[in-house]
Amino acid sequence: MHEPVIPHLQAEDPEIAGLVEAEARRQFEKIRLIASENYVSPAVLEATGSVLTNKYSEGYAGRRYYEGQQNIDPVELLAIERARSLFGAEHANVQPYSGSPANLAVYLAFLQPGDTVLGLSLPMGGHLTHGWSVSATGKWFNAVRYGVRADTGRIDMDEVRDLARRERPKLIWCGGTAIPRTIDFPAFAEIARETGAVLAADIAHIAGLIAGGAHPSPFGHADVVSTTTHKTLRGPRGAMVMSTAEHAAAIDKAVFPGLQGGPHNHTTAAIAVALKEAATPGFAAYARQIVANARALAAALLERGYDLISGGTDNHLILIDLTNKGVAGKPAAQALDRAGVELNYNAVPFDPRKPFDPSGLRLGTAAITTRGLTEEHMPQLAAWIDEVVQATAKGDAAEVEQKVAARIRELLAAHPMPGWAPAP
Ligand SMILES: *Cc1c(COP(=O)(O)O)cnc(C)c1O
Repeated sequence: MHEPVIPHLQAEDPEIAGLVEAEARRQFEKIRLIASENYVSPAVLEATGSVLTNKYSEGYAGRRYYEGQQNIDPVELLAIERARSLFGAEHANVQPYSGSPANLAVYLAFLQPGDTVLGLSLPMGGHLTHGWSVSATGKWFNAVRYGVRADTGRIDMDEVRDLARRERPKLIWCGGTAIPRTIDFPAFAEIARETGAVLAADIAHIAGLIAGGAHPSPFGHADVVSTTTHKTLRGPRGAMVMSTAEHAAAIDKAVFPGLQGGPHNHTTAAIAVALKEAATPGFAAYARQIVANARALAAALLERGYDLISGGTDNHLILIDLTNKGVAGKPAAQALDRAGVELNYNAVPFDPRKPFDPSGLRLGTAAITTRGLTEEHMPQLAAWIDEVVQATAKGDAAEVEQKVAARIRELLAAHPMPGWAPAP
């Protein structure tokens, strides 16, 4: 049963409705550990599915290129006000279609083609849009990359400072997709100030933790903060670029007309709803629980001899190097998926293996925390992961996969999922 219900979809297009239903069941029955995913609330789903999708509104509130903005302007202004208040931002643009276009807008606001950008290298945990070679950002700009230290698995701030002094980037990115530790925003800010660079913090993964007070905030340190809205922040797929007042005009101009056309108003409304939810004491408790769950899961994995990059976690994310377990990331991830544990294979720093067949696994606890799992469930979860990984290394996991998947379905049946429930 969907909440909101989807009777028209079921009547008009049973093929798509059937796939939506199957996906809802899949999300219900799996321990979802993909670090960038979550479950949104029914209120967010309703806003996303609303008639706001019918409306064009290129421009910004009060200065649009289309008539009929009596309701859209207040929606967007509410989203902006809520973002500013939640994060303590001087300026917020809520129109970027997703995280990657949001980051492109940051380039467009501050750089010319060929200018130098400094970002965390992709295989060390950075994002494609921080200047990786296959990305437009790596092709159109002179990208210089920092990494993590081999001995600590943590970002090498000495390397960041040395590279910034030598290369004089116009833009420095901090943040990434596989960073299990707290980002030192004040240290990045000091380097950016010294070298005259704009500092952009990409908080796509940790926005919900920052909103809930479970990770230090980049505001007051970074000039620009970009984020997706659909990861730990638990909103619809979308993004925001926030900044100091000084850069407000440049950011807005870069998003529209620089990069995009009409904003997705149904998404803007859903972002506003998610930001309202994220401002509640319940969400702060949720953010703390995400971190507590990740710590407990990391401790249970360490106890079972897993090699965690940086030795643990400060946030929602755990990066495992499977080398000592005698199995690569991809076969392990595939076996775990069949066993009801969904996560992704991932490169680890200094990975000797190829990006499409790397050594590691990446896990995050945002979605399982939304399902109401707590620290007490983490030792069992680590035990299931271990059982499947060991069986995969031995080459005969089929039986273990089936057994674990059944146990997981049993556990999750008692933990409701927002947006869907199995028929009684
Ligand atoms: C997810 C992510 C993005 C990109 O978001 P999309 O919505 O997938 O384009 C950008 N930066 C970081 C650090 C991310 O984790």
